[in-house]
Amino acid sequence: MADTRRALITGITGQDGGHLAQLLNEKGYEVFGLLRGQHNPRRAEVERDMPYVHLIEGDLTDPTSLVRAVETSNPDELYNLAAVSHVGYSFKNPSLTADVTAKGVLNVLEAVRVTGREQATRVYQASTSEMFGGLDYNRPGAGYNENSLFHPRSPYGVAKLYGHWIAKNYRESYDMFVSCGILFNHEGERRGVEFVTRKITHAVARIKLGLQPQIELGDLWPKRDWGYAGDFVEGMWRMLQHSEPDDFVLATGETHSIEEFLTLAFGEVGIDDWRPYVTQNPAFMRPAEVDILLGDPSKAEKVLGWERKVDFPGLVSLMVAHDLRLAEAQRLSV
Ligand code: GDP
Repeated sequence: MADTRRALITGITGQDGGHLAQLLNEKGYEVFGLLRGQHNPRRAEVERDMPYVHLIEGDLTDPTSLVRAVETSNPDELYNLAAVSHVGYSFKNPSLTADVTAKGVLNVLEAVRVTGREQATRVYQASTSEMFGGLDYNRPGAGYNENSLFHPRSPYGVAKLYGHWIAKNYRESYDMFVSCGILFNHEGERRGVEFVTRKITHAVARIKLGLQPQIELGDLWPKRDWGYAGDFVEGMWRMLQHSEPDDFVLATGETHSIEEFLTLAFGEVGIDDWRPYVTQNPAFMRPAEVDILLGDPSKAEKVLGWERKVDFPGLVSLMVAHDLRLAEAQRLSV
């Protein structure tokens, strides 16, 4: 029998970390997760929901802790999902964002190298559509692909671009298997409420059950290519099973505005007009906005055989249904 494959996931407490750990566990991997900080409030949640994950304490800004994590887990595959990952937050904490989201990638790659695992460990780097920036002159009609120009519009996007290029540099310099997934927005029931989709579905469920009167949002016209995170982690895994390292866009090929998301989400609970329930607050607007993101996933579909299973209405529906269950449980507990 072949040895059990081992995977190390940084960012185990995040949305993608949870989906990916579940997928790898189902595939028979031994799964290790890097957990940051003393008294991490998410530790108990991970231990409860994913008891099969071996937790290792470490931090992307602490190179020695990463070396230890790589030595302890001895991974065949390392998925670097950890980051300061929120665009709005990155404007308020740009230096921390650079330390974690940019230099942290270098620290992870170096940990693989200094432990002598550069030929043994395949690395996935979580790159992002935020590297494109969405400016009109830079937008091909069919959506951004792996060859589109980058023009990040936030400290987060700039930091991720460093991560993307240092990952490619290690692939070229040291012949390491490092693949970058350029993922467009991906959402779901594990999404944090600081992101607009979950903020909306969480509020819609609570408004429906009378637990809150309204929701405050920023700009409603930006458009995003929103997919389901559960589909996207399958694409990450496929990238590391491919014969060679490469860059791949994962996206749905559709773009929708926040207004469209609101219409579908409120529609799920039988409210046809969302306007009385939504107010706009400049606090949620960004110093520079990405107007529109649309991705072209045809390379991943063709080369990796990747396909998404959940469409846009399906995504909104599953998120609202999940949040209705949570809100109902909350109502019963008060
Ligand atoms: P992003 O695409 O990675 O920035 O993902 P987000 O879900 O944080 O934001 C998606 C879009 O929603 C951006 O254009 C935001 O400016 C916009 N938006 C509007 N209102 C809000 C809000 O209240 N919270 C967040 N997070 N985004 C908002």
